[in-house]
Amino acid sequence: MSSPGAQRPFPEVSGRKSRKIGLFGGTFDPPHVGHLVTAVNVRHALDLDVVVLMVANVPWQKQGSRAITPADDRFAMVQAAVAEVAGLEAGDLEIRRGGASYTADTLAALAEEHPDADLYTVVGDDAAAGITTWERYDEVADRSTLVVVDRPGAPVELPEQFPWVRVEVPRLEVSSTDLRARVSDGRPLDYLVTEPVLQIIRDRRLYRSADGTGSADGTGTAGTAGAVGTSEVSGAAPAPGSPAPREPESLEEVR
Ligand code: ATP
Ligand code: MG
Repeated sequence: MSSPGAQRPFPEVSGRKSRKIGLFGGTFDPPHVGHLVTAVNVRHALDLDVVVLMVANVPWQKQGSRAITPADDRFAMVQAAVAEVAGLEAGDLEIRRGGASYTADTLAALAEEHPDADLYTVVGDDAAAGITTWERYDEVADRSTLVVVDRPGAPVELPEQFPWVRVEVPRLEVSSTDLRARVSDGRPLDYLVTEPVLQIIRDRRLYRSADGTGSADGTGTAGTAGAVGTSEVSGAAPAPGSPAPREPESLEEVR
């Protein structure tokens, strides 16, 4: 398993001229089966060599609306989620770069690192709907093919200037927002995240309410007072027992 700064190189694929790399960016707070099913199926459908689940350092469009879990915890969960999955990688480029995470910068870095690669930017409908609010979205369109997958709500239609394709993946109505609320309420996360991810959530006591209640095993047992897993980088944690509000899902790094 790799750690930040020591990422494994993408696998070399013999007999093919250019590599096809999928960039699937997100906050991954936490990563769940919806992310994994999407990544695996997009990789299969488009015959990509690798899909990188790129962990946003600062998801600038989410900042202020809620507490974001520290990047190293989110990266550890993504690493754990993809460890056994062929063709999926956890990406720490945006964390290493620091500051706000812009897809245009990440694509530029990938293009420099892999000059012959074809790049694909993978997004759900909710994220695609706000693509024109992304920082330098025209660069995203120039450098990559946008791959849109279904999420609940109306399917988005993108402006013609975008090279984009829709890939059908099994629709799983799972969101990190709901998962955080589940931990906070003491409801189970089983089968919604992988077991290694669940273990990290338990070990690091992530997503517990500000008063230390909630658990990732569905027992609802109170945790140690003050052991708040999420770092209050910005915004306030939801009131204990109340479901986390679902923020508008329309923008970049609303990922
Ligand atoms: P949150 O509820 O905190 O916004 P999320 O579940 O939407 O979390 P993100 O990290 O925001 O997860 O999403 C990263 C990317 O994954 C986005 O492009 C989003 O559209 C996509 N995505 C998230 N959940 C699913 C899902 N269940 N099916 C398909 N795509 C998804
Ligand atoms: Mg989201």
